[in-house]
Amino acid sequence: MPSVVIAGAGLVGALNACFFAQKGWDVSVYEFRKDIRTMKHVQGRSINLALSQRGKSALEAVGLREYIVNQGVPMYARLVHNKDGKTFSRQPYGKPGEHIVSINRRHLNEVMITQAEKSPNVKFFFEHKVKSIDYEKKQLVVQCTSQPSRIPSFGRKPSQQENPEIHVEADLILACDGAYSAVRRSLMAIPRFDFSQEYIEHGYVELNILANNNRFAFEENVFHLWPRGHFTLIALANKDKTFTVTIFAPFTEFEKHMSTTKDVLSFFEENFPDAYKLLGKEHITETFNRVKPQPLVSIKCSPHSFFDNLVLMGDAAHAMVPFYGQGMNCGFEDCLVFSETLEEYGNDIASAVQAYSKKRVNDAHSINDLAMYNYEELKDLVNRNSYKLRKKFDTI
Ligand code: FAD
Repeated sequence: MPSVVIAGAGLVGALNACFFAQKGWDVSVYEFRKDIRTMKHVQGRSINLALSQRGKSALEAVGLREYIVNQGVPMYARLVHNKDGKTFSRQPYGKPGEHIVSINRRHLNEVMITQAEKSPNVKFFFEHKVKSIDYEKKQLVVQCTSQPSRIPSFGRKPSQQENPEIHVEADLILACDGAYSAVRRSLMAIPRFDFSQEYIEHGYVELNILANNNRFAFEENVFHLWPRGHFTLIALANKDKTFTVTIFAPFTEFEKHMSTTKDVLSFFEENFPDAYKLLGKEHITETFNRVKPQPLVSIKCSPHSFFDNLVLMGDAAHAMVPFYGQGMNCGFEDCLVFSETLEEYGNDIASAVQAYSKKRVNDAHSINDLAMYNYEELKDLVNRNSYKLRKKFDTI
């Protein structure tokens, strides 16, 4: 059977492992973090994510759709909260019954790792950092980051000891090591590799609304939105009846209006009065003392395939701003499209690798642009009437 080595066991790397486990390939996954299934707290991005049709179709192909969807909370509409804290408007996502699903990121990632590991041909190497690609030899260069084994210290302090680099060879290499991909970085010197990166002026902070007497504090089956011009608040329900609440605002706004306890509390009270009550003063204060706003980056590159055996997938190929809720979904679709392309080419890796990039780059760029465009909409446009909306959009 052919072999595949995957960089990163995040959402896209873990799903790829499921796809190739199913095909019976030999799969090795190298992940920088510890095994998240053994960790108490997992640091990282958004606690929950909106799973849409794109992502569901990919999960379906590995037999996980039903299980994952049942672990989430369906959302049938956007519920826009007005500034008075009492009135709302509802914007259905589709026809009656159509919905997206709020899913817990960690749980989703853990389920996919466990599913892939059921196959005896799949091995996860946690605490292994991918350093680069050796493109002469077409190998992934990896280093174990756990306590070094007994390497002669030659007079160096123990803390300076490092494990040796390992060169991993496989028929196929999939780079799923996220927005700051080490694999992509090591490809930068390749002629005609296009790359662009943009940090938007907004950052985000995540907060939490607890269950109220074991009940959801707000209506659960909607995507809650508080659009306020250049900043916005969103909330997605979790299965445990809590809500993950995220504020997106320009870094200048965080600095100007949310850098002291007094300021941040009056900012929330004035702009999101209903959410403010449920979040509570203590929680808002504690969160803003503990965490800094996180940046948001949009990345495009082309091609997504290199040599005859390397593919960039997920955020490594197309990190996007989260306002279209499609980063993970698009990454999941990458896995499905690549799996189908391999089948189309009768498992001829070199042909499938080249064909994949041709199929995928334009689609990835389009979703990336749509995400940027929805950034404008979520901030403000949902509060305008459809005439103004159309007028604005006609110019785009
Ligand atoms: P990641 O999830 O970043 O995983 C990369 C993995 O690679 C990680 O496990 C990391 O530890 C590992 N890694 C990194 N470097 C190395 C290395 N050198 N060696 C080994 N391992 C390495 N998407 C949606 O579809 N719906 C949403 O609702 C949504 N909401 C979002 C909200 C926010 C606030 C943000 C920031 C993003 C959101 N996204 C959403 C986007 C989504 O989070 C990403 O698109 C998705 O996580 C991409 O998955 P990935 O596996 O490509 O990258």
